[in-house]
Amino acid sequence: MSDVLLTGSCLCGAVRYELTDAPYWAHACHCSRCRKITGSPFAANAFVPLESLRYVAGKAHLNSYRIPKADRFTHTFCKLCGSTLPSPNPSKSRVVIPMGSLDDDPGLLLKAHIWVDSKADWDAIVDDLPQHTEALDF
Ligand SMILES: [Zn+2]
Ligand SMILES: [Zn+2]
Repeated sequence: MSDVLLTGSCLCGAVRYELTDAPYWAHACHCSRCRKITGSPFAANAFVPLESLRYVAGKAHLNSYRIPKADRFTHTFCKLCGSTLPSPNPSKSRVVIPMGSLDDDPGLLLKAHIWVDSKADWDAIVDDLPQHTEALDF
């Protein structure tokens, strides 16, 4: 259980984390919220079991923003540099890992596009991955 498999960090390096499990799923979320927090057409998110995440440096620099009235949407980020960081989702027993925050190759590629009905007009999906109009239950 103590074997570190992957590490991640923010842009300024103040916050560092470790994962003890490889991600079991990864998708591209094209929802408007992910667009806002990433400034990009989609968020590339991977998922690991809840107990897999350990912040090893800079925990005091973590901040999070929860959308009022949203069931579950928490944006966790570094207060110093603004980088998006992993967000635990206890109700689903998993952690959302923004793939860009990883320092290592997680060993899997994106497997699907979700919230495709909400994608920006300028967002062209050019691969053959499965596309889901809204959320994906997994
Ligand atoms: Zn930072
Ligand atoms: Zn999203």
